[in-house]
Amino acid sequence: MFRLPEITYPLTIDSIGNMLALGHEMTAHCLNIGCGQHSRVNLVALGHRIGFEHSCLEQDLRRHFYCPKCRAEGRDDKRVGFTHHTLTVEHSEWPREREIARKQVGRRAG
Ligand SMILES: [Zn+2]
Repeated sequence: MFRLPEITYPLTIDSIGNMLALGHEMTAHCLNIGCGQHSRVNLVALGHRIGFEHSCLEQDLRRHFYCPKCRAEGRDDKRVGFTHHTLTVEHSEWPREREIARKQVGRRAG
């Protein structure tokens, strides 16, 4: 269990807890040319490890990550970048629009 931070305005998405509270996600990407290693970051597990108040900015997160593919091949494994993903469809749809879409699917199926 963990406590999500209160969302305050003006909105700043500056911590792992804030990202979770807003439904955001993050992927990590190896920046070495030709590597292509990337994966979705488990923000809950990361928050438990380094703290939900920890900054979610690249310069603050980078030291906690490495590229396993580059490490295995002896290349610089600390060139990791991050992409923040905002809450997207269907998780961000307004309830009324979601209900209309479901009815349309129901009509097509029936
Ligand atoms: Zn790599």
